[in-house]
Amino acid sequence: MAAEAGTSCWDLPAALRQRREQHLFRRRLTLDSAQAARVSCGGREYLSFCSNDYLGLANHPVVVAAMVEGVHRFGVGAGASHLVTGHMAPHQALEEELAAFVGAERALVFSTGYMANLGVASALTDRGDLIVEDRLNHASLIDGGLLSRAVLRRYPHGDLAAAERALVGHSGGRRLVSTDGVFSMDGDLAPLVELLALARRHDARIVLDDAHGLGVLGAAGGGTLEHLGVRAQSPLVLVGTLGKAFGTFGAFAAGDADVIETLVQQARTYIYTTAPPPALAEATRAALRVARQEGWRRELLGRLVARFRAGARALEMNLMPSSTPIQPVVVGGAERALALARALHERGILVVAIRPPTVPAGTARLRITLSAAHTERDVDHLLGALGSALAREGVARR
Ligand SMILES: *Cc1c(COP(=O)(O)O)cnc(C)c1O
Repeated sequence: MAAEAGTSCWDLPAALRQRREQHLFRRRLTLDSAQAARVSCGGREYLSFCSNDYLGLANHPVVVAAMVEGVHRFGVGAGASHLVTGHMAPHQALEEELAAFVGAERALVFSTGYMANLGVASALTDRGDLIVEDRLNHASLIDGGLLSRAVLRRYPHGDLAAAERALVGHSGGRRLVSTDGVFSMDGDLAPLVELLALARRHDARIVLDDAHGLGVLGAAGGGTLEHLGVRAQSPLVLVGTLGKAFGTFGAFAAGDADVIETLVQQARTYIYTTAPPPALAEATRAALRVARQEGWRRELLGRLVARFRAGARALEMNLMPSSTPIQPVVVGGAERALALARALHERGILVVAIRPPTVPAGTARLRITLSAAHTERDVDHLLGALGSALAREGVARR
């Protein structure tokens, strides 16, 4: 039976129009340059505060040279999945170096962080098991929980008592707690030490997704774990991404050898996909070395974060309790966030407005990220532009 005109559930133009009217329509920028503090976009240069290239390694000459050299030695494509013939010497070396970097028995390289989180959750749990997650976890952790077929329970952000109630309320089966290390839209840290104690009390394991902590936190860049003095061993499974502080692409899981072997055997997003380009593994190995050796990048980043927060406080901006390079300025409605981002663009500054559903309704924000590629002058420039945009838009003041 034909649907009446205009009532089809396939009226995509209407759905898109509604998105636009609610200021939730997403647009992509197209960069004409490499990822850097200054990027070119639509023929104009911008000072950018929206990449996750925290250490400024995405276009680092040593990393670039390693990738080029890797292409000459190993070609472009891996040509097969890891369990067929796609696992090459650069992947193996990278896994060993990643394990050493985070102090784990073993590490396993995945194509992306999204796939790592889907793979870990579905390999370690099944129907009848339980996954408990912080409400502000990254979408890939949530989706991993959904895909696993385990029961998924979410607790209010950082609420340990609620997390424990969820664990206690489930008997039988495996129990997994998954959490971001550094929350990607707020920049604050998970109460990891307390979560580990909780996991030990209830025979649960913890999946720690440290996408925004690795390379950034800890004197040697070991991430949230180094920052808190915790080892990457049972009951912990660490997930790290390579497309953020390390400036390349891909991800890994690390932990006890038996957990990693279980992922090799059972993680479908590891098994049923082509291995990443071997040259990429070479580039990441170089990035790991630079990240470890050039401690000045983390020190500079720390100074830039402090400088931004002091300046933003002086301007009475609505900062969040973040000590990381993720410095959100909460402005409330999606429309206000967009207007502010636009005002900054007019001043030659690139900052993105993050809106629902990525963040809860009413907490739309400018998500400002700092990088070791920035200078103190860049931060001052941002503060000046933010100050005048806020004065003009009259928003975001406490
Ligand atoms: C970016 C991110 C991911 C996804 O990693 P990709 O390699 O980009 O797929 C997973 N978790 C968190 C917390 C992230 O910020």
